[in-house]
Amino acid sequence: MKTLDNFNFKNKKALIRVDFNVPLNDAFEVTDITRIQAAKPTITKILEDGGSCVLMSHLGRPNGVEDQFSLRHIVHKVSEVLGVKTRFVNDCIGSQVNEAVSNIVAGEVLLLENLRFYEEEKAGDTGFAEQLSGWGDIYVNDAFGTAHRAHASTAVIAQYFEGNKCFGNLLAQEIESIDKVLNNSEKPVTAILGGAKVSSKIGIVENIIEKVDHIIIGGGMTFTFVKALGGKIGNSLVEDDKLDLALDILEKAKKNNTQIHLPVDAVIADAFSNDANTQTVNTNEIPEGWMGLDVGPKTSENFAKVLTNSKTILWNGPLGVFEMDNFSKGTTELGNAIAESTQNGAFSLVGGGDSVAAVKQFGFADKVSYVSTGGGAMLESLEGKVLPGINAILK
Ligand code: AMP
Repeated sequence: MKTLDNFNFKNKKALIRVDFNVPLNDAFEVTDITRIQAAKPTITKILEDGGSCVLMSHLGRPNGVEDQFSLRHIVHKVSEVLGVKTRFVNDCIGSQVNEAVSNIVAGEVLLLENLRFYEEEKAGDTGFAEQLSGWGDIYVNDAFGTAHRAHASTAVIAQYFEGNKCFGNLLAQEIESIDKVLNNSEKPVTAILGGAKVSSKIGIVENIIEKVDHIIIGGGMTFTFVKALGGKIGNSLVEDDKLDLALDILEKAKKNNTQIHLPVDAVIADAFSNDANTQTVNTNEIPEGWMGLDVGPKTSENFAKVLTNSKTILWNGPLGVFEMDNFSKGTTELGNAIAESTQNGAFSLVGGGDSVAAVKQFGFADKVSYVSTGGGAMLESLEGKVLPGINAILK
């Protein structure tokens, strides 16, 4: 795997695909700097080598040139987080960029305008990628969040840097973490799959079922399994067209000696609301008019026991409707159990949209081994897909 360590950037221009798709408020201020911070180690290493950095990114989903999606809004924040004055150029291709790039000297950082102002970016246009490729000597991909897209700047561009392309620190860490969980894992390995639906996690289940020792199921998808097994689930979330699939998964797990752990009790509510009436019952005895919105205490205890004995842990998806206080306990207790196991030497990876939001919300981010920065990219990696952005560097 080619990383920054394979290159000396002295007097070299690094063209870095970063993921600065950060949230902005109405005053166009950056409200979460995580993604900028995540790119900092790569940029710092290149500058310390004596090189310069040309940064390219997308922001949001513009339709052509739309000022609200201009990366100029974030350039101050980038300078502040990097601790290096970052210059901005009003375009990402053309003569203005050519001039700015020609004038850049060692130690400097230049941020280009939003790549998605050109539809050629998402289309993976070769001509556009070739124009972008003129802005650096070495291409560095450090944008895990878009690595599952075959866009001009994330994948197509790499062909113009034969022998001069590598992963940035962030992307390398993401790849290593996934590898540590799926391929080079210390056993026993436990995967926790929560969230809303079986249908969105089935690709992951199919890929990991032969690789892990335990699968903990939680969240809304619990009830498709419970119903398939003949339980009463009241008005809980269910995918009736996935009942057979749930049984297939249980069967396949048995064949592979993978233990599936389903919640035995649930916190149920008489409405999808934090103010609803609640009670705790067995997961397979939920009365009509009630729905399961969190796992109960016996389940938390069972799951904690599995996690205490795990050496590798993957967490994707919350165990309940964690956005509502009254249904967040199962998710926080799971987070505590993962944190404790991590402290005792397990490797823990948290990835995929809502579980990342949950670890941040409940303060677990620095108590697990690694929190992934990519939602869709993480899910596709866990499904065993080869991501175009990664493949383009490996080729
Ligand atoms: P996902 O994006 O598939 O990981 O799903 C995350 C969403 O699942 C969160 O917004 C949770 O509120 C929701 N969720 C978790 N447990 C349940 C449940 N028991 N019933 C309905 N939604 C749930």
